[in-house]
Amino acid sequence: MLDFKNINLLIVSDKRAHVRQLAELFTAITPIEFILDIAEDVDRACSQLREKPIRLILLDYHLHGNLDNRALIQLSNQFPEQPIIEFGDLHGQEIEQALLLDGAQDYLPLSRITSTGLMRAVCRSLERHRIISESEALKQNEHLLAEVKQVNDKLRSRNDEILQFYQTISHELKTPLTSIQSFASILDDGIAGDMNEQQREYLAIILKNCGHMAIVVNDLLTIASMETHKFDLHKKPVDVRALVERTVIAFGPIAEQSDRQLSMDLEDCGTFYMDDMRVTAVINNMLSNAVKYTESGGRITVALRDLPRDDAAEISVQDDGIGIDEQHLRRLFDRLYQVRADKIDRYKRSGLGLGLYICQQIVELHHGRIYVSSQLNKGTTFAFTLPKHGGEAYD
Ligand code: ADP
Repeated sequence: MLDFKNINLLIVSDKRAHVRQLAELFTAITPIEFILDIAEDVDRACSQLREKPIRLILLDYHLHGNLDNRALIQLSNQFPEQPIIEFGDLHGQEIEQALLLDGAQDYLPLSRITSTGLMRAVCRSLERHRIISESEALKQNEHLLAEVKQVNDKLRSRNDEILQFYQTISHELKTPLTSIQSFASILDDGIAGDMNEQQREYLAIILKNCGHMAIVVNDLLTIASMETHKFDLHKKPVDVRALVERTVIAFGPIAEQSDRQLSMDLEDCGTFYMDDMRVTAVINNMLSNAVKYTESGGRITVALRDLPRDDAAEISVQDDGIGIDEQHLRRLFDRLYQVRADKIDRYKRSGLGLGLYICQQIVELHHGRIYVSSQLNKGTTFAFTLPKHGGEAYD
């Protein structure tokens, strides 16, 4: 639809009578509001066109006594997008045809033109111009879309390469790592003979670092399978209280070794439909972080709340550790996001910043929500909800 308000027109003519005649005709066209500008020659017209937007040019064919298309060609060369209607005293098929061939949208013989004829010509010209501009914009959009698609395809293939790299490197690391862990455990069990105090100490370091590395390798493998949609959940009915209790008890020795006080406060919630291994992994990740980011002697509490109104349960892991600055909270569940702070480096940063991202994915695959609240130097609580049916109907 054309916008009929404040249509800027530029009349290019050196003849006052022509300008007056056109101005009077325009005044008679009531539904449209025109703003008329006048230029006496092509140079002045050009500078006006550069200064402000003009919707349409009305160009005197008989400019400065010339009876040719020079002015038209000059204007359309400099402003190829600008619609131009020619007018003049003369009329005749030949003149009109020549002007149209040189790019004019119409020719109006002044001796015959009425305000209705003028309005029709102006509207037609503006509408034609609008359609052309829109189709140009569409073409431009299509071009941009094609470019975006190309960039997207490139990014997707880069992402696939990175995932492939994750997968290869983690597989390559997993096999020797498992072997190192097995032989170190054999030594630790004394199967290969007795060890002195120092050898035991060194072996403990080897085993601890193998443990860290195993977490990283597993995170990489999990991410690779998630992103390539090979990450399957095996949901089944599970007593959620029993699951949380088992997980906390199994984590007990780690908390004890690192001198953290681990307690639980669990409500009965009944049976939930979930992948128990994956939910255990989420709790374990939160527990490991709680140990990592608290001081020796710190307190960690795991709570389970029944949320009957939502037909869900909430599991939370609270610590009184170093806390997280508010500015980081929003991005904490992003892939590879880690808080950079001297204080954290003191807490022996390990991992790649994948743990919470994986937790979030697992919770969301159960149609639950995951969230965090924290206060710097006071402590942190990570929590997630699980809907009773794990987002699916079960029999
Ligand atoms: P990472 O493998 O680095 O631990 P995570 O995704 O598990 O990765 O955690 C991301 C970041 O969140 C960590 O680098 C750490 O800075 C912060 N964080 C996680 N848990 C806690 C916590 N309980 N207390 C303080 N900071 C935490």
